[in-house]
Amino acid sequence: MLIVANWKMNSLRREGIDRARKLRLLSSEKELSCNIIVCPPAHIIHEVRQALDGSDIGVGAQDCHFDDGGAHTGDISVKMLADLGCTHIIVGHSERRQEHFENDEIVKMKAKKVHSEGLISIICIGETKEEKESGKALDRLHDQLSNSLPETINSINTVVAYEPCWAIGSGLTPNHKEIEDAHTVIRDFLKRTIPKTKPLPYVLYGGSVNGNNAEGLLQIQGVSGALVGGASLDPTDFWKICQYAETAVNLKNS
Ligand code: PEP
Repeated sequence: MLIVANWKMNSLRREGIDRARKLRLLSSEKELSCNIIVCPPAHIIHEVRQALDGSDIGVGAQDCHFDDGGAHTGDISVKMLADLGCTHIIVGHSERRQEHFENDEIVKMKAKKVHSEGLISIICIGETKEEKESGKALDRLHDQLSNSLPETINSINTVVAYEPCWAIGSGLTPNHKEIEDAHTVIRDFLKRTIPKTKPLPYVLYGGSVNGNNAEGLLQIQGVSGALVGGASLDPTDFWKICQYAETAVNLKNS
């Protein structure tokens, strides 16, 4: 299981560092076997990484540019993020797709750049409310997989996050059958793309995951972790989700 915290555009330095320290403390009280990555806003990545030093919690970024450097005002390159200690980079988050008009082609270029620098891309896909209501959700996922995943993907360098746009920050989640169906589409696609001898990448669910619903969501067939936005700002709630991931692994393995 992999649990990823997306802090989005929240927290000044003090607040971010305190939250990271709290997480480190929680992680020192009980060792979990699931992988945990925290993606703070770019201005505090370095300090959050320092605050998490000595724990198994890694640090990632919320976005990157697809170019190595140069005239891209306001952007940040994969090399710069690697220099800050990031191992993972989220690409194609629906907020980037909507607010910054990023299409599948751009997402694919970003993921490719992440891979070329030896980092792990967390590639987000998910249908809109309109696509869901018109019965096109699974077709949309298939299109996004075909068009956003570069040919450089493998079992290690890629994580796919299924995040229905309408579930993000809304308090709404799909029902378990809908999540299972989406994950089947994603895993079938990955099975056709990744050599049969290799394990499949993590496939996360994201969209209003919190300490109250995570237990059930993480036990859904095919779900191998969660991308958590709002609830990741509360270390206690976030840690509860990580503990449910542990329970889910034990149940799935039993
Ligand atoms: C996200 O930002 O990826 C996300 C899933 O947000 P939330 O958990 O707040 O819905």
